[in-house]
Amino acid sequence: MTDPTPEKALVVLSGGQDSTTCLYWALQRFGQDHVEAVTFDYGQRHRVELDCARKIAALAGVRQTVLPIDTFAAIGGNALTDDAIAPESGARADGDQALPNTFVPGRNLIFLSFAAALAYTRGARHLVTGVAQTDYSGYPDCRENTLKALELALRLGMDSRVELHAPLMHLSKAQTVTLAQQVGAMEALSFSHTCYNGEVPPCGHCAACELRAKGFAEAGVADPLVERCRQQGN
Ligand code: ZN
Repeated sequence: MTDPTPEKALVVLSGGQDSTTCLYWALQRFGQDHVEAVTFDYGQRHRVELDCARKIAALAGVRQTVLPIDTFAAIGGNALTDDAIAPESGARADGDQALPNTFVPGRNLIFLSFAAALAYTRGARHLVTGVAQTDYSGYPDCRENTLKALELALRLGMDSRVELHAPLMHLSKAQTVTLAQQVGAMEALSFSHTCYNGEVPPCGHCAACELRAKGFAEAGVADPLVERCRQQGN
């Protein structure tokens, strides 16, 4: 028996490894005709991210909406929107309480609020985000308790039954790679973007590149982005 009112999902797609994996996770879970993507143009220094997100949405065959938010760039003070600040390299030391300068304060709270507003207008109950609290830089808006609190606020504030999904929340980077294989995201990952320095092929030495490479190495899988760049000789 088919469901007469299939539930729709909206995926926050940045063009990075994690959100790309989540897009394919959503396609598998909700079905090709019930998934859309939203991408935020928030003044990120590396515009290549937006190109990647566009390519991946097209490859996945989903409708993509690009929403502009220029306020983070106006606020400044972080390495992802401010040209004057170089991203910190290397992983955080254990016990290091300071957030790296790649933290954009409030970013996920704002993204998910706008995404929830779009989902509301589209009749999509499910919001999917690639945030994870394991193995990362300790961004507080990527933690499960933040998402739970935000979900409650969105439900109350919009009188809706919105559900936030973070399928990568408790996965290591290696487990995320394995999930990407299971949901058929590998081709799309060859067009994804992770490097904090905005380089294609990826620079290989920034914190984001190191984390990505470590995940693929631990999963015993070649990174399709690195493979594609190598084959194209650039
Ligand atoms: Zn890099």
